[in-house]
Amino acid sequence: MLKSQIDTPEVELEVMRAAAQRLNNTHHHLSVAFEHGHWWASCADCGGAWDAVDCQRDGADYIDFEQVSDGDNYCMDEYRRFIARAHARRKL
Ligand SMILES: [Zn+2]
Repeated sequence: MLKSQIDTPEVELEVMRAAAQRLNNTHHHLSVAFEHGHWWASCADCGGAWDAVDCQRDGADYIDFEQVSDGDNYCMDEYRRFIARAHARRKL
């Protein structure tokens, strides 16, 4: 059975760690939930949502995310403004 379809505290922790690693640079209020037979992540700020998907690299299983909803793009817009400010400072 695929890890993303197993509802245990251990897998929940793994999904949360993966969400923190892969999504938290941009989205700061993430939560994960097991619904409809699989794990997914969502962001309280922008309403973005991601399916947890099972991946493999060098023989090791890991969880990654596929975005299923952009929400209102609040976090991505904030991220772009943050990067733009950094560029503006460097030009001074
Ligand atoms: Zn967000």
